[in-house]
Amino acid sequence: MKFHSLNQQAPLVSFREAVIKGIAPDKGLYFPTEMPALGTLFFEGIHELDMEEIAFAAMRPFVKEDLPDKVLKDILKKVLDFDFPLVPLTENIAALELFHGPTMAFKDVGARFMALCLGYFSQQEAAGEVTVLVATSGDTGGAVANGFLGVAGVKVVILYPSGKVSDIQERQLTTLGRNITALEVDGTFDDCQRMVKTAFLDADLKENMQLTSANSINVARWLPQSLYFLFAYKEAKALDKNLVFSVPSGNFGNICAGLVAQKMGMPVAHFVAATNCNDTVPRFMATGQYAPKPSTATISNAMDVGDPSNFVRIRQLFQNRNDRLAKDFSAHSFTDQETKQAIKDIYGSTGYVADPHGAVGYLGLKKYLEAHPDRYGIFLETAHPVKFLDTVESTLGIQLPLPPQIQKVMGKDKQSLHIEGYQALKAFLLEH
Ligand SMILES: *Cc1c(COP(=O)(O)O)cnc(C)c1O
Repeated sequence: MKFHSLNQQAPLVSFREAVIKGIAPDKGLYFPTEMPALGTLFFEGIHELDMEEIAFAAMRPFVKEDLPDKVLKDILKKVLDFDFPLVPLTENIAALELFHGPTMAFKDVGARFMALCLGYFSQQEAAGEVTVLVATSGDTGGAVANGFLGVAGVKVVILYPSGKVSDIQERQLTTLGRNITALEVDGTFDDCQRMVKTAFLDADLKENMQLTSANSINVARWLPQSLYFLFAYKEAKALDKNLVFSVPSGNFGNICAGLVAQKMGMPVAHFVAATNCNDTVPRFMATGQYAPKPSTATISNAMDVGDPSNFVRIRQLFQNRNDRLAKDFSAHSFTDQETKQAIKDIYGSTGYVADPHGAVGYLGLKKYLEAHPDRYGIFLETAHPVKFLDTVESTLGIQLPLPPQIQKVMGKDKQSLHIEGYQALKAFLLEH
């Protein structure tokens, strides 16, 4: 499998090169040149396969020239060492819990898969040391820090906005040490993101080091997310209903990976993208105009994205035809007020505690099912509610017990370096 740049001005590359580069030299996102088909037999017999077998079949076509089968199997075994339960809430709604990994957000799978691929490539001849540079508004930092911890040949530098991530999120990204460095920036997430983008274009840095990104623009972080949808399909298939997925979306990497699973042959009736008030995609679906705007802070902060980077990939999957896209995909946005009410409603009617992101997904699903009551809906629960402790506890008036993964980081001391401005980041990168 080769990967091409969606800006069409860069050469085709292998999976390995796409992972190491992160983004194409023409600044386009890498995209597979074809969509492999898994075949009807695969889906008919999926209930007989375990997670690793499903994952191997789905990932192999994308990576087989660069990862020997045995290496891919080993990587998937390490990545998939926790569960992805499908929890039925009502007769036609279930939550797909993606938060049972080490940092309790769904980004663990992609972060670990990418870390292990890069670790393998950097052991290979001539790859040399790779520096992963990543900006985070909260969840990405922890998942990347955890996934890359101790991976030989890879250094990780995380930029986060000082005082703007939750206490638990900050501990997850600042307490690991070893090959992980956390840089605390006096500014916003947008400032961190801008510094990272500047670094990728900096000729001095390019000459001195191999820099790559661990955001969902990187194919190794993005593609394995399609596995969640296949695992859910395996569980829901016996119901023999038309399935609908509702995905709380920010950068639209996760839902795009779901659409990839559909293109690989997974039977599914529809996808709903649910956003908070950062509604660039819902507005696009309503008007046909793509008009990004600066992000607004909400209680579902991992989705505070004004210009979602993976939406170009979604459009590509539908040959940039809006009519084709609209058949399989719709998008709705919800306010913080509606989100809190949904957290209360879900708890009140089922006893289930949703986090603000999952609650947005639930709202998107409800809206769709009103018009299509015969379908079975699955919304993705992308983070454990404890990661948004203040919001969830104050909305429901209950106390949540801390899971062991979170207790573990609460006792550790924060280690970070304050930096101010791009020159300070550059100096840091050149020194280390
Ligand atoms: C990152 C994140 C999202 C958004 O996922 P995208 O792939 O960026 O659309 C949703 N929920 C949580 C909890 C996240 O951490």
